[in-house]
Amino acid sequence: MRLAHPINAMTANLIPPTSTSSLEQSLKHFFGYDRFRLGQKEIIEAALENQDLLVIMPTGGGKSMCFQLPALLKPGLMIVVSPLIALMQDQVQALQDNGISATFLNSTVTSLEVRQRASDILSGKTKLLYVAPERLFAEQFLEFLNQVKEKVGISTFAIDEAHCVSEWGHDFRPEYRQLKEIRRRYPDVPVMALTATATERVRLDIQNQLALRSPLIHVSSFNRQNLYYEVRPKQKRSYEDLRQIIKQTTGSGIVYCLSRKKVDEITYRLQQDGIEALPYHAGLGDKERSQNQTRFIRDDVRVMVATVAFGMGINKPDVRFVVHFDLPRNLEGYYQESGRAGRDGEPSQCLLFLSYGDVKTVEYLIEQKPDPNEQQIARQQLRQVIDYAEGTHCRRSIQLSYFGERFEGNCGNCDNCLRPQPTEDWTLEAQKFLSCVARCKERFGMKYIIDVLRGSKDKRVLANRHNELSTYGIGKDHTADDWRVLGRSLLHQGLLEETTDGYSVLRLNAVSWEVMRKLRTVEVALPNRVSEAKEEVSSVRRANAELLFDRLRSLRKTIADSQSVPPYVVFADSSLKLMSQQQPQTIQEFSEISGVGSHKLAQYGDRFITEIRLFCEEQGIPLQQSAGTAPPPPPPRETILNATHFLTLELYQRGNKPAEIAEKRNLRLSTVMDHLGSLVEAGKEVDLEGLVSAERRSHIEGAIAIAGAASLRAIRDRLDETYDYNEIRLVRALWRRASSVE
Ligand code: ADP
Ligand code: ZN
Repeated sequence: MRLAHPINAMTANLIPPTSTSSLEQSLKHFFGYDRFRLGQKEIIEAALENQDLLVIMPTGGGKSMCFQLPALLKPGLMIVVSPLIALMQDQVQALQDNGISATFLNSTVTSLEVRQRASDILSGKTKLLYVAPERLFAEQFLEFLNQVKEKVGISTFAIDEAHCVSEWGHDFRPEYRQLKEIRRRYPDVPVMALTATATERVRLDIQNQLALRSPLIHVSSFNRQNLYYEVRPKQKRSYEDLRQIIKQTTGSGIVYCLSRKKVDEITYRLQQDGIEALPYHAGLGDKERSQNQTRFIRDDVRVMVATVAFGMGINKPDVRFVVHFDLPRNLEGYYQESGRAGRDGEPSQCLLFLSYGDVKTVEYLIEQKPDPNEQQIARQQLRQVIDYAEGTHCRRSIQLSYFGERFEGNCGNCDNCLRPQPTEDWTLEAQKFLSCVARCKERFGMKYIIDVLRGSKDKRVLANRHNELSTYGIGKDHTADDWRVLGRSLLHQGLLEETTDGYSVLRLNAVSWEVMRKLRTVEVALPNRVSEAKEEVSSVRRANAELLFDRLRSLRKTIADSQSVPPYVVFADSSLKLMSQQQPQTIQEFSEISGVGSHKLAQYGDRFITEIRLFCEEQGIPLQQSAGTAPPPPPPRETILNATHFLTLELYQRGNKPAEIAEKRNLRLSTVMDHLGSLVEAGKEVDLEGLVSAERRSHIEGAIAIAGAASLRAIRDRLDETYDYNEIRLVRALWRRASSVE
């Protein structure tokens, strides 16, 4: 592995611990993670080799890491083009919180600030610069870029949300078209394009538009194994279901509704039920919308009730559930919207409520569309959503098949896999169905085939003289609904195909023929449509770990608020979860938690360890002795402190008197005073005002001046007997601290 100039002089404090640092070590050092996610390492290696790259990963796949780590390991400035201001700010904040020097330039930055940032860049201090595409091509900026190139070099252009260059994508932005210029102006700087878009068409467009040079193309699986998928029938009491789900989960969630009116209604009901919820839809003013969004991101409010206007560019990694209270418009949309859950890889739920009333509403809306072609496409999309919702197969495999990805077997994380419906052998019916498709020359859709099977006198059937086929009427023994279940199941099992051009014509494939030739049997699971409320999310026992998790969450929130950042910037849920399971009580153990890099260790380690130890003490979990396990990069004075000192400090800072601390912790008063003394010596903020009066303090100092600081006894001998060792220790500690500063 070649790491060109791992670091420049200005960022010397970021040097990874060893000079032969492997990529994994750098990952741990800068970001606190132990392992690369699938694909990341190869991508980063190629980036370090200056190759062009096209990175396609689903939301939450860890795209940003693919340019962030190379930015730190390559010489020069990494320029990240990003379309959304909020997203830019988020990422820069998260990087800065890891002690990484990143910045952004966009319309919200004052010109004074721009100059400051530009000078930091030209001095080589900054490793990552985020810009909006329109800024990139402003005359002034181009001049600046040339200076950058000359002085510190440009390591790579990373184009985030690269699908915005394509009219075929769902978010075309004309200003992205200009990005082609980059290649022309800086032919020797590698380009990395990143997107979560699934379609082939857009991928090709990206390569062409950005003029990528034989890029390494990485396509991750779109399977999001941490997401649990479930569909429930929507009934009168579904609101109750929704309320239950929200009450039974911890963390944030999004509830999607089709209309503004519905958003307002559900928000109101949730609020009435004591759940912190806010609305988000196009009917609200810009200000209110962005306020609500910020409050959601900051965990001031748990639930966002929203139309699909919400979510694009929301970087919140710890959304724990996404509920579609109304029918989504199409499956790709559903995948993207539900995919806003669990970007951090932690278990999260995606729930959809299906109602046939909603289907009727959407059908009505489709009929209102003027363009028949559009109608056609919308109908097919609606059908796909219903197929998904009524499907009896693995939900994951149904979704992935829309992206051309095959997923076989039991995923173990969707309702259909966890609670499979009993299956029946429908081989004979399948043969009838498939031969009917064959007899009709593979030119018709599902409804028509069922009409023929059931001997319908429909005009079209008669006009096509399909009443003369041998398969006409051979399916009268089953209802049309049964046949639909079968047809859908054949599609989901890959035993039949359907065209995707808006017409949904059924086609046979090689496996269909195997069924017809009796080489294969067909099992079909029958849905129980009227299923009474599916069972509860298991009532969870609040184990120790969960209690601690809540405590750490609230500590995280306090810290985040004091720094005006979203809580996930401090630590991800996954890190808090590991902390609450492993309960690290020493700096060493804490540093081993995934997500704890060197910077965060130094910034937050003490406070989290203290909280954990307080918790363990309250719960009667034995505290560890931290002796022997010296923290990794400790200033020498710190080695004398261990978590028991921090516990005392925490309680003292919360306003407890030493005697109260002693009682609470079941320690002797002298031990507590001893702790306070050590804390003062170690430079911790301990306010001693209330402990020793100024007068007594100056007497003691006088004694120290004569007797020296080495022996308490010698100091005490110089004072009268009203002075006790506790006071003397504290004053000596202050004295020592003052002299060590000089
Ligand atoms: P994307 O941009 O692909 O949607 P992000 O880059 O925002 O995803 O990453 C999603 C989450 O995964 C972030 O919280 C990020 O810190 C985390 N992450 C990235 N790489 C790793 C890794 N190797 N190990 C653990 N977490 C990671
Ligand atoms: Zn499944």
